[in-house]
Amino acid sequence: MIATHAGIDIRKTNDSRIHEVDWANLGFGKTFSDHMVVIEYSDGAWKRPSIAPYGPIPFSPAISALHYGQAIFEGLKAYKNERNEVYVFRPEKNAERLNVSATRMCMPNLPVETFVESLRALVQLDADWIPRGEGESLYIRPHMFAVDEFVGVRPSETYMFVIFSCPVGKYYTNELRVRIEDKYTRAVKGGTGHAKAAGNYGASLFPTQIAKDAGFDQILWTDSQEHAYFEESGTMNVVFQSGNTILTPMLSDSILNGVTRDSVLQIGRDMGYTVEERKISVAEIVALMREGKLDTAFGVGTAATIAPIRSITYGTEEFTLKSQTPEDFPMKAADHLDLLKRGLLDDPHHWNLRIL
Ligand SMILES: *Cc1c(COP(=O)(O)O)cnc(C)c1O
Repeated sequence: MIATHAGIDIRKTNDSRIHEVDWANLGFGKTFSDHMVVIEYSDGAWKRPSIAPYGPIPFSPAISALHYGQAIFEGLKAYKNERNEVYVFRPEKNAERLNVSATRMCMPNLPVETFVESLRALVQLDADWIPRGEGESLYIRPHMFAVDEFVGVRPSETYMFVIFSCPVGKYYTNELRVRIEDKYTRAVKGGTGHAKAAGNYGASLFPTQIAKDAGFDQILWTDSQEHAYFEESGTMNVVFQSGNTILTPMLSDSILNGVTRDSVLQIGRDMGYTVEERKISVAEIVALMREGKLDTAFGVGTAATIAPIRSITYGTEEFTLKSQTPEDFPMKAADHLDLLKRGLLDDPHHWNLRIL
């Protein structure tokens, strides 16, 4: 049965899987809601958006995404509060960033409105899949990939844009033990680090595994040329705080422009902190840690929101930061963001999109 809603063809499932969900053990990214958005691109144009039951998509083993890596993604969340209101946080930022990624990977841009409206229709249809417990949400995964059945390195002429979603529980909460990476590189100058391109993550797995085998939770990535300046923390942006100053590496072509980063910096400014976005050297942070002046360090990203860092290892030296309390900036910012995203706080920057 196909219904049409705001220019979107909707084919609903007759066989919802929602009663099979183990809501007490959602974890992250392993349960998928009933439906998905699919939009095809060919002959230089996006076709009519559709929503169909979530499931396998048949394609040839020769599609160029698999061989030459034209594949990009996004990640954002929908939240439900006790009043059953549903909000999505700053989705137009993700739509704009998808297009930044698409441009860098020689893929077609998708109109921001198509992104937001198809996402809205999907979240409305699968609203029963949004859990509303503490730390819970519906993780939304838009992505685009090249589907030309063709062997040869050139931009594909056909693409698919797909959105699926996953009810998720609280992300990891332990304070992180991280190591400053001085051999491997996540993203090079002039490369694709500012794009959410699938290959970036494949390339980060091996160095991350080495760090994990050595007992660390995550890597603090440094610049590709000198390994002297901070870039990111794992797959999150990294933020430091010393007294009233919040420090974070300024955006560049090797740093992903995180929506959480931008939001946390604004919340910091709103709370009266001084925010510095600039090059931040390893030497500067190590000196602050030696003097006991680094109050907090944390990763910021949609999946975890804020992941406090407990210790930073540089070479053979491990610096342990004090355990973070609810009065420290990271926890204050995390609480603030959580309430805001659930529609329970004033939204002076108009970040929330109400869906239901
Ligand atoms: C997605 C991502 C982030 C965080 O971006 P958000 O929009 O805050 O989720 C940071 N760094 C990398 C490398 C990422 O892929």
